[in-house]
Amino acid sequence: MDWDRLITIEQMEAATNELLETGKKVGADSWQQRVKNQTPHCGFGEAGTCCRICSMGPCRITPKSPRGICGCDVHGIVGRNYLRFTAGGSATHSDHGRQICHTLYQTKEGGSYQVKDPEKLKRIAHEWGIETEGKDIYDLAHEVAETGLLEYGKPFGVQRFLKRAPEHTQELWHNAGIEPRAIDREVSQAMHMTHMGCSSLPEALIKQSLRAGLSDGWGGSMMGTEFSDVLFGTPKPMDTTANIGVMEKDMVNIIVHGHDPSLSEMIVFYAQDPEMVALAKSVGAKGINIAGVCCTGNEVAMREAIPMAGNFLQQENVVLTGACEAIVVDVQCIFPALGPLSKCFHTKFVTTSPIARMPDSDFIEFHEETAAENAKAIVKMAVENFKNRNPELVHIPQLKTKARVGYSVEAIKKCLDGVTNSHVDLTGTTRPLVDVVKSGVLRGAVAMVGCNNPKVRPDTAHIELMKKLLKNDIIVILSGCSAQAAAKAGLMDPDAKEYCGEGLRRVCELVGIPRVVHMGSCVDISRMMVLASDIAKDWGINISQIPLCGCAPEWMSEKAVSIGNYVVATGIDTFLGVDPYSKGSSEITELLQGETGCKEWVEAHFVVETDIEKLGDKMIECIEAKRTALGI
Ligand code: SF4
Ligand code: SF4
Repeated sequence: MDWDRLITIEQMEAATNELLETGKKVGADSWQQRVKNQTPHCGFGEAGTCCRICSMGPCRITPKSPRGICGCDVHGIVGRNYLRFTAGGSATHSDHGRQICHTLYQTKEGGSYQVKDPEKLKRIAHEWGIETEGKDIYDLAHEVAETGLLEYGKPFGVQRFLKRAPEHTQELWHNAGIEPRAIDREVSQAMHMTHMGCSSLPEALIKQSLRAGLSDGWGGSMMGTEFSDVLFGTPKPMDTTANIGVMEKDMVNIIVHGHDPSLSEMIVFYAQDPEMVALAKSVGAKGINIAGVCCTGNEVAMREAIPMAGNFLQQENVVLTGACEAIVVDVQCIFPALGPLSKCFHTKFVTTSPIARMPDSDFIEFHEETAAENAKAIVKMAVENFKNRNPELVHIPQLKTKARVGYSVEAIKKCLDGVTNSHVDLTGTTRPLVDVVKSGVLRGAVAMVGCNNPKVRPDTAHIELMKKLLKNDIIVILSGCSAQAAAKAGLMDPDAKEYCGEGLRRVCELVGIPRVVHMGSCVDISRMMVLASDIAKDWGINISQIPLCGCAPEWMSEKAVSIGNYVVATGIDTFLGVDPYSKGSSEITELLQGETGCKEWVEAHFVVETDIEKLGDKMIECIEAKRTALGI
């Protein structure tokens, strides 16, 4: 096994250190320094044993004071905190999905937003029982968007997309009483349940966490993904580049950061506008270079092959290059630190959403109705800012890799069709994948997702785990900042054939896919749920029986907790490298990680293991145990 061609963590850290040197020159703050200032963290917060949901408190649980003033015990407090954590994540993803529904509702012939994938729109309409025959595509788009928006507050029934799951999974959800109803209702009910004097029964709190998570994964996130495909195109495999070296010294660099593709797609479009390119040349640049950070970066990489400059903990690095004319953000995972940091350079920090207002930014409110003029104004501002660069501060570390991206479920099935004998077998299924897993050429799959977290040496857990899994013939499907970690290291390079076990190498060569498969942004984890459902149906087994697990080794956000809940609730064991503030309660820990609770209700549970080597071993054991249980 030769890993030599990978960009190492040490190389990435050396590049970051060079950038921090530039930061020092201009008196910039950094997350590395702020971590030091905040360490050690409060032990009560880390264990989840403090409560401040009413003004009789704050209360904290110790052996001497085993109950809060209201009498709530440690299990109730930890459980309530966990549920609120989930609700925050579910609300965030779901609001993103709502925004996309609104964008779909704004589409019109010749407008800023149009329907790029009418076939997918029609498929969803059929699925939802909406008549398509003889309808204008935009009338249909508006009807589907409106139906989607009603999913957020409908008075009766459950989420429409639940029907995509195998019947067995739907039954589990029904029997456990965790089928998500209206999306907003689940978040709102979580807040109600966790009010002082409502639920303190651990079982009820964890069940609502699963339900709020499901309302995200099989509701808000799924609509976000599906309608983004309808609007901007369903991703297909394409080649791009990754790491900080994608920024160009002689060009106007615009970084898009955040989550919502409605903004970034428009910025990408106007950066190619001949008028803007001419303007860039008139200020002495060779052109306009767009690169992405975090999930907005993933969205435009998946659909437009826009380079990925970095993931969560590299967001400050792009400014520190001194070559960033504008960092344009929408919502989520944006460090407020970017405001003061950009003031140390010529960089314009452009906020665009009323949901994410920050000090020291230029606020250009982005509306679906005025998207074209907003995007043009932002691009123009960035181009005109090129002349304000301080050449002495410009330093772009030369780290850059090739990456193949764009694996939607549709694209994966298309690749699998390439190895299907269409005279004998159906195309458009996951059967070829099932066959190689059954035969043992592939041992199984891990869905690796989630963030960076300074508690883990950034990107190490992602990359080391991927290497270990690949070596063991386990294919890795990726999203979010985990995908970007792989891309930055060079693991997504389609030519990097040596980085895996013999069986996996053969499968990848035959099917023509890279060893690690980029499935998109964080909302696109919903794609993984659809893929798991389809595999279970094609195989004729339950999702929980597939040799498959989920993993978030460096997670940090509430969204990641919501994701964890819906992945577990879908029947997929989920491995975490950072503790979800639950260790203060043995009962909550048992419900989440033990053999009762989640395991009994949905046939899967969490495994928390902060030793990354052991985390990898446990995943491999889990996959092998599932194989043994299937007799394969
Ligand atoms: S709800 Fe109970 S435990 Fe929480 S702060 Fe109020 S009194 Fe304390
Ligand atoms: S993986 Fe985590 S840090 Fe990265 S964009 Fe998603 S939620 Fe944010």
